[in-house]
Amino acid sequence: MAPDLDDDLIRAEAEAALRLHRNGRRDEALSRAMDLAIQHKRSSPLALNLSGDLNMAAHRRNRRRGRGAAADDKALAERQAKFAATCYKMSLDAVPDCVETFAAYGEALVGTGMWKPAWDAFMRAAAIAHPADPAAHRLGGYGRSAGLTRGERVEMAKARLRRAIDCYSNARCEDAVAEVLATVEHHGAASAVHGAAKLADRYPSSARAQCLPAYVAVELARERRGGAAYPATAATPRHKTLRRALATMDTAARTFDRSLVVALFRAKLLACLHDYDAAEAECRRALAVDNPDDPAAHEIPLGSAIGEEYDDMVSSLRKQLCDLQKKLVLLAVHDWASMESEKQSQILSVSIDELREHYSKIDQIAANTVSEARRFSKTHGSWCFWICPRSSGQCAGKKFLDTASLLEHLRNKHPDDLWVNLKSFLDTKLCGKFKTENASQDGYSCHDEMLQFQSIDGMIELVLNLPPGGMKSETLSEMRRRKCSELAEILDRIKKKLRACPKDLSSSEFDQVRSEMQDLWLKFTELSVFDYREAVVPLARMYQWKELKKRISEDGSIIAAWSIDDIFGDVPAEHASLDEKVGHQTGENKVTNKSDNLKA
Ligand SMILES: [Zn+2]
Repeated sequence: MAPDLDDDLIRAEAEAALRLHRNGRRDEALSRAMDLAIQHKRSSPLALNLSGDLNMAAHRRNRRRGRGAAADDKALAERQAKFAATCYKMSLDAVPDCVETFAAYGEALVGTGMWKPAWDAFMRAAAIAHPADPAAHRLGGYGRSAGLTRGERVEMAKARLRRAIDCYSNARCEDAVAEVLATVEHHGAASAVHGAAKLADRYPSSARAQCLPAYVAVELARERRGGAAYPATAATPRHKTLRRALATMDTAARTFDRSLVVALFRAKLLACLHDYDAAEAECRRALAVDNPDDPAAHEIPLGSAIGEEYDDMVSSLRKQLCDLQKKLVLLAVHDWASMESEKQSQILSVSIDELREHYSKIDQIAANTVSEARRFSKTHGSWCFWICPRSSGQCAGKKFLDTASLLEHLRNKHPDDLWVNLKSFLDTKLCGKFKTENASQDGYSCHDEMLQFQSIDGMIELVLNLPPGGMKSETLSEMRRRKCSELAEILDRIKKKLRACPKDLSSSEFDQVRSEMQDLWLKFTELSVFDYREAVVPLARMYQWKELKKRISEDGSIIAAWSIDDIFGDVPAEHASLDEKVGHQTGENKVTNKSDNLKA
């Protein structure tokens, strides 16, 4: 095939069509892409691939729509897959070493029900020793501006092939899954148990088939709404049914560890069973998965994944995982409310020793922080000291026990006219030690090596604001460096103000400058306080969260049908969503506990 003189022109037109598609003008984009492919079918794999991709996007939309009854949509979907397959085939004639085009070709063949040729296409793609660079003849994520290296682009193409093979495995049993789901809908979950188990046996490489028995079990548990036959205690059939479903999902999550759908379902089950710690860990694991499987291939019920294309569905699932993490906190708060007050008070008091021991097993940075804070408070009867804004050299580890000694250090070690000038503006009492120690503040107090919290509000707020990956401990020296750079900024402002200050001041001018100076100095001394509790309290709150989850899971609280509905996202009208139920509780008595420094 001779290179087309209009390569750049074709690329520009293809990009314009893709932009239209992304802006939601799908029909227009599709028709332009098809025209372009037809016009340049002998010279441009790029145009052929785009036409294939947009036809497949339309195919998926119509297929999802056609799952109901619309025969027209189904027939149209099949024609689109057929046309896409033809485009990819012609493109492969020109560029036979493109892994991604082969993957797409196989997917199009799956769309027309040609299983054997589809499988052959995947196998040929997997055997390509030196894959072509997809950016040369594909748009999508490979645009030259995407900033990926050639190696990264080839890796992306291989990930796409892996997803295509996974879609193939799931598509093979899609109709059979639909039948089982129809049985659930029309005859109840109990009639579908056997069919789901048989299907899982028959299709071991389909994530959807493997999860189907668990899905049916959850439906079964939801049908058992209390009543005399099923008293709501931990030993009810509902509990057993969910445990069985969890065992199924444990295996599925190990086998299909890139599936966000499987992870979300498993995490929800764990939440139903009040194992919030494991649910949280599952969400976190799933959020760290790169190139996850195609959610459209695993979704149950069929068509339930939100979003039209792969990227949309993946981001929607990631958001659902984040939302579930937050919901776990609300569920725990709900359980907390029904906990015996003795257990509550055990959770509210945290001993420093306990804290140190806990972190020494899981997080050395945190353990060191607790040890150092404890040592300091034992020696000085205080949690606070003042630091020099210089974070390097001999100033790095210095601890001043009051602002007067800090000021003296600044004058002696960092001589500057600033201090002499500043002194005339400062009140003597501003140089003293003024921070009250160990007073109850921010919802907790500390006596005899025990942190005594008034409520779990601060914990709720901290956990709700955690980044998706969880809390990352900041070392004390990192914390100190962060403070130093803030202090240096304020010191600069003080210096600038002093320099701009006229020598001869009238008494009213003097009063005004003095008040500004005092404000800045106050801010400086406040910021130069290094309070160990700022580091220790969030660690204590996280420990408290861990303990709360542990207690709840040990208690094995009852599993109410409404809570399954709430967790699985289908809330019947008679039950307000849990978010609303506990919203009031979490909103009042807000306690910040200086957790801001952990949110970054
Ligand atoms: Zn210093």
